[in-house]
Amino acid sequence: MQQVHFDSCIIGAGVIGLAIARQLARAGRSTIILEQAGCIGSGISSRNSEVIHGGLYYAPNSLKAQLCVHGKHQLYQYCEQHRVPHRRIGKLIVARSSAQGEALQSIADNALENGVSDLEHIPAARLKAMEPEVAGCMALLSPSTGIIDGHALMQSLCMELEQHGGLLSLHTRFQHARFSGDHFDVTVSSVGEPYHFRCTHLINAAGLQAQSVAARIEAGQTPLIPPLHYCKGSYFALHGPAPFSRLIYPLPEPNTTGLGIHATLDLAGQVRFGPDTDYVTQVDYQVEPSRKARFIAAIKHYYPGLMEARLVPAYAGIRPKLQGPSAAPCDFRIDVNPSGVINLFGIESPGLTAALAIAERVGESLAGA
Ligand SMILES: Cc1cc2nc3c(=O)[nH]c(=O)nc-3n(C[C@H](O)[C@H](O)[C@H](O)COP(=O)(O)OP(=O)(O)OC[C@H]3O[C@@H](n4cnc5c(N)ncnc54)[C@H](O)[C@@H]3O)c2cc1C
Repeated sequence: MQQVHFDSCIIGAGVIGLAIARQLARAGRSTIILEQAGCIGSGISSRNSEVIHGGLYYAPNSLKAQLCVHGKHQLYQYCEQHRVPHRRIGKLIVARSSAQGEALQSIADNALENGVSDLEHIPAARLKAMEPEVAGCMALLSPSTGIIDGHALMQSLCMELEQHGGLLSLHTRFQHARFSGDHFDVTVSSVGEPYHFRCTHLINAAGLQAQSVAARIEAGQTPLIPPLHYCKGSYFALHGPAPFSRLIYPLPEPNTTGLGIHATLDLAGQVRFGPDTDYVTQVDYQVEPSRKARFIAAIKHYYPGLMEARLVPAYAGIRPKLQGPSAAPCDFRIDVNPSGVINLFGIESPGLTAALAIAERVGESLAGA
């Protein structure tokens, strides 16, 4: 019997897989996206800060820098066109002492190299007027940083995918694929039953499972699969009214594992603090109440008026880091294999911001293929 043949098969319906599937379906390719869970976006994409990042910190010319800055512009445009809830509320990076002024300047210099030219230096008096609850002797304002409803974005991408004839297959777990000269023979388990089909291009956007999925794709050459390190980030929510109207960040931690315990707002105006960084060996989303003391100490540096009883454990996410605890930060990896496989590894922050740009990059890699 003739098997069903798709041009593109995407594994994983998080924000990255959905953005890629939408991009390829719009380009006229017959597209299927597989998701092992019963709904879209239940992985990393539903456990993050939902911040549209400015692109300030990433190493110049890195994929993270390029795709964040380009993706940010694409995302704002997309949100406006498709009515995805978002707000360009801006972010302040706050220096505690004048000794930190140099560190602020180096962030501004780095941002400029990344093409971010809208940063503003904010002196203490203006900081006080802008955010009376924030303690700091100067700050850097990023007006193009914002917040987004990540689920609404994913729903919108999925709707567009389906409008262009793409297929979303939920409860469908990718098992194995083998390259057969000009196509892949793919085996999935769909609602517990094995199912086989063919595709020309296979895109692995499986987030925390990207490495194990890559190991199950036989594509002629052995893929270079990077190690995967789980780095958990926990959040605490602040009950009651928000003391700030912008996102408030301390200076990044010197080891650059994370951006420091910062304050973000959601679209309902609720403040949450985090994420912190904790390398773990298992996926576990429990927020340990014992972390609260560390949060309080970090938050009080820039928000001394914190009422500790208002701080409650919220949720946690896991970053798919390619580097271990004390190693230098790794870039995103978009590995293109000539057989037609693209593996996406290490798509941690700013993956949500960069999703449309990553999708465009994948589309370009396949164009002409
Ligand atoms: C704590 C934290 C905070 C963050 N904050 C931000 C932020 O503020 N701004 C920002 O830009 N980015 C942020 N990020 C990064 C962003 O959330 C991620 O880059 C993005 O969500 C990754 O999406 P994804 O589609 O690659 O992964 P996922 O959303 O995890 O999607 C992968 C999907 O693949 C599916 N899957 C896995 N294996 C299989 C299989 N065998 N068969 C079928 N399906 C499979 C999974 O079920 C999952 O749904 C943050 C990340 C974390 C962890």
